[in-house]
Amino acid sequence: MDYSAMKTEEQKKEQEKCLAEYRKYQELGLSLDLSRGKPSAEQLALSMGILDSLKSTSVLHTQNGTDCRNYGGLDGIEEAKDLMRKMLGTKQTNVMVLGNSSLTIMFLLFNHAMLDGLLGETPMCMQKKRKFLCPAPGYDRHFGMTEYFGFELVTVPMKEDGPDMDVVEKLVASDETIKGIWCVPKYQNPTGVVFSEEVVKRFAALKPKAKDFRIFWDNAYCIHDLYKEEHEIPDLLDLAEKEGNGDMVYEFCSTSKVAFPGDGIAAFATSPANMIAFKNYLKQGTIGPDKINQLRQVRYFHSIGEIKKHMKKQADIMRPKFEMVERILEEELGSAKIASWTNPRGGYFISFDTMEGCAKRTIELCRDAGVKFTPAGATFPYGKDPKDSNIRIAPSFASAEEIEMATKIFAVSVKLATLEKLSANS
Ligand code: PMP
Repeated sequence: MDYSAMKTEEQKKEQEKCLAEYRKYQELGLSLDLSRGKPSAEQLALSMGILDSLKSTSVLHTQNGTDCRNYGGLDGIEEAKDLMRKMLGTKQTNVMVLGNSSLTIMFLLFNHAMLDGLLGETPMCMQKKRKFLCPAPGYDRHFGMTEYFGFELVTVPMKEDGPDMDVVEKLVASDETIKGIWCVPKYQNPTGVVFSEEVVKRFAALKPKAKDFRIFWDNAYCIHDLYKEEHEIPDLLDLAEKEGNGDMVYEFCSTSKVAFPGDGIAAFATSPANMIAFKNYLKQGTIGPDKINQLRQVRYFHSIGEIKKHMKKQADIMRPKFEMVERILEEELGSAKIASWTNPRGGYFISFDTMEGCAKRTIELCRDAGVKFTPAGATFPYGKDPKDSNIRIAPSFASAEEIEMATKIFAVSVKLATLEKLSANS
């Protein structure tokens, strides 16, 4: 029943009913975790063949004759670059493939920007005031990274087709201290939003006041469709090059959520000038990445077509989990009209919004019943959700039974938190 239509007496009764249910769950002494977007053991098992793709008797030379056992090749091996370029969906040739983490490449780029400055601009550490645009809800590790580097985080609202571009265009055109923006263009973490073609085009045509403004285009979920249909988005780097804006774009992806997050490869694509500058920075710290792992991944996956087939197997494991969460939320909360949530077509997360002021309390109630969620607020800059309503649900890692129990406990916690709020307001 619609909670807002309930009389005070009815609300009280509902609260007692929910409390009794909640206490029963508490008595079970559970320990469940829907907090982080990790692949499950079943998903990881799909990729075990990677470990067999090279043996001590294998030829460890690349197609162009590089011996992967030896030093060299700062930007990775050609066949890995080719594969990752196709994964990113870019025609640009300036692609670099490094180690297992795209976040590390982003982190290194910030170090480069801070210490060297970008393409002749003043090093960012010497620019006292610097800001970064953070579409929110968004990815907590992105926000944390820019906070760590001393940027003031500026929230940009997320819409159904990407960040609010009216806000982005206005801010970047007028404020020289805005140095960049975080974007997860496909199946955004946590909203699952896929940026529309119009949004991508508007990004490509941005006219930032700061010459060292960069779009961090983190395409972490570029081939992570949960359903048959694949959502294609145009390549930002290609579009920006056409606008004469190639230097504004940094693109990233990795095989973390394709194969093993602990042992994948990560790619970075950008303009020729940016790539030269970054390599000049990077060469001070390494002679080259782990080429044998790059070879291992390429020999296992062969082609982008094979990777996409592999991703369909991943989707077959993940889709029922997402659908279970969505079904339970609908059954338990649909008629109460106290929350909304996404039904993503890809990626790793369901984004859930409680009534204003109820997210923290919901997470607290879940915790006290043995279910861990990402802390409320984490999806916003500084960990502070101004409405205290957004919660990120990550259904991938847990088993179906665990997810079922955790979602039921979550739903009753949402009801209790809402009823507490309604009674406090009345
Ligand atoms: N970007 C986004 C948007 C993510 O959600 C994640 C993983 N949760 C990462 C990057 C991490 O990528 P990597 O393992 O390549 O560092």
